[in-house]
Amino acid sequence: MKFAPFFHSFGSVAVPFQNCIPQYVVGHSKNLQRIERYIDEHKLPLSLVGNSYRGVSINDVILDSRRQVEKYVKELKRGSGHDHSGEVYL
Ligand SMILES: Cc1cc2nc3c(=O)[nH]c(=O)nc-3n(C[C@H](O)[C@H](O)[C@H](O)COP(=O)(O)OP(=O)(O)OC[C@H]3O[C@@H](n4cnc5c(N)ncnc54)[C@H](O)[C@@H]3O)c2cc1C
Repeated sequence: MKFAPFFHSFGSVAVPFQNCIPQYVVGHSKNLQRIERYIDEHKLPLSLVGNSYRGVSINDVILDSRRQVEKYVKELKRGSGHDHSGEVYL
């Protein structure tokens, strides 16, 4: 990791960390749609949650977790045929 500090005139120092936060690749949303379609079509008991999927901030991850749990609960109530076996992996 390279450090290239910026010295501000008002006395603070900012150090950018290179390559510390991974980026989505080009085509990420299409890849994700394909994976989600596969999970749906095969009725896999799986929810993908985390910064690798639908946003990198903590807020994104919390909101996405909530949405995935709501989707899971809705499927349970509807009796979707997904074999969740009572386990939630977040
Ligand atoms: C340097 C940096 C600064 C950031 N600053 C901000 C910010 O200011 N604001 C903001 O909103 N977001 C920020 N982010 C982004 C945010 O922190 C992450 O995107 C978010 O925490 C990701 O949450 P997550 O649950 O997907 O993954 P994580 O928080 O990484 O959680 C994954 C967990 O799984 C555990 N784990 C991994 N592998 C295994 C395994 N095999 N078995 C069991 N456990 C395992 C890990 O130990 C970890 O506890 C920052 C990220 C970085 C790297």
